[in-house]
Amino acid sequence: PAMLGILGGGQLGRMFAVAAKTMGYRVTVLDPDENAPAAAFADRHIRAPYNDPAALRELAQSCAAVTTEFENVNADAMRELAKTTRVSPSGDCVAIAQDRIVEKSWINKAGLPTAPYLAIESVEDIQVDLAPYLPGILKTARLGYDGKGQVRVKTAAEARAAYANLGGQACVLEKMLDLKLEVSAIVTRVSAAQSAVFPVAENIHKDGILDESIVPARIDPALAAQAQSMAKKLADALDYVGVLAVEFFVLADDSLVVNEIAPRPHNSGHYTLTACLTDQFQQQVRAMCGLLPGRTDLLSPVVMVNLLGDVWKEGGGEPNWDVLVEAPNAQLHLYGKKTARPGRKMGHFNVMAATADDALEQARALKDTL
Ligand code: ATP
Ligand code: MG
Ligand code: MG
Repeated sequence: PAMLGILGGGQLGRMFAVAAKTMGYRVTVLDPDENAPAAAFADRHIRAPYNDPAALRELAQSCAAVTTEFENVNADAMRELAKTTRVSPSGDCVAIAQDRIVEKSWINKAGLPTAPYLAIESVEDIQVDLAPYLPGILKTARLGYDGKGQVRVKTAAEARAAYANLGGQACVLEKMLDLKLEVSAIVTRVSAAQSAVFPVAENIHKDGILDESIVPARIDPALAAQAQSMAKKLADALDYVGVLAVEFFVLADDSLVVNEIAPRPHNSGHYTLTACLTDQFQQQVRAMCGLLPGRTDLLSPVVMVNLLGDVWKEGGGEPNWDVLVEAPNAQLHLYGKKTARPGRKMGHFNVMAATADDALEQARALKDTL
């Protein structure tokens, strides 16, 4: 069987490895951490930094196709790999997703709205009238996730102080919008003619981290269809190959604003592991191999709940899973991480029920038993 490679061995790499192995491929993971969650399911683990030239050469020469599970450091690595093997998504698309300034300008260029924002590449850029962006959120252009690298600011003085505090690195100042809801749409695109969008998820965040995804999203189906077509439009504009997640804000007037994109399967798509014939990691395998996307229709309303290290006991003891594991309509998924820390994603569970509201009620009751 063909060998598939993945840059990064976290939980997304692990779920990719399971999908690829199940579909009959072999898997090589490149990750410096000996305890990388994906390593347990991979045929081969190259333990090296993501940008290590020798490791990248080895990966490129031994794999029929390579993908990535994160966007924070590896656009150049993807470009390097592309000289030797099939790579998706492209290094150019990864580069767009790893810089909020470039990302937002691409979203606008594709004809889609973002929150009003100011790109701040140097201290002069923040000397303008900031009123259109206040109250706002100052976000570092690079390396932020789970709400890290973000400061909420009310006044121009606060914004300038926060920028200085972040060490003068490139940032965006984004107007704080009044959100009715947040939703996401995940598109798998193989070519201009072949793409498929998963059902739209409604996402509830806690402390800047995804907490629950509810599917179908409790919005007008026409609005959900609009989010799906916006995600597809963006993938087309980028000539994207692979799985692309698009996060949206729903505003009070039911309009959609794109928040950000991720060039990979997304936490808000973990419901597909239980509630779709093809899950988002199988789609990633299909896209990188040039196979057609699989079916994306929803088999049942579903709710996903993230399990953060916070629910582990003081000293690292696991919660008691008994009630959750025994629930016939729940599916527990642990990532095999050795140490739990507050805010660290350790696993998730999905609950299926007749309606999204029923699934949410049951999911919350199950979480309370932990
Ligand atoms: P992720 O882990 O999804 O990559 P991130 O660190 O890149 O997160 P964002 O998605 O930019 O962060 O923001 C995190 C959350 O903060 C959003 O999901 C939303 O709840 C809130 N938020 C961000 N920007 C805005 C905004 N302009 N107006 C209102 N709320 C916002
Ligand atoms: Mg992000
Ligand atoms: Mg986000």
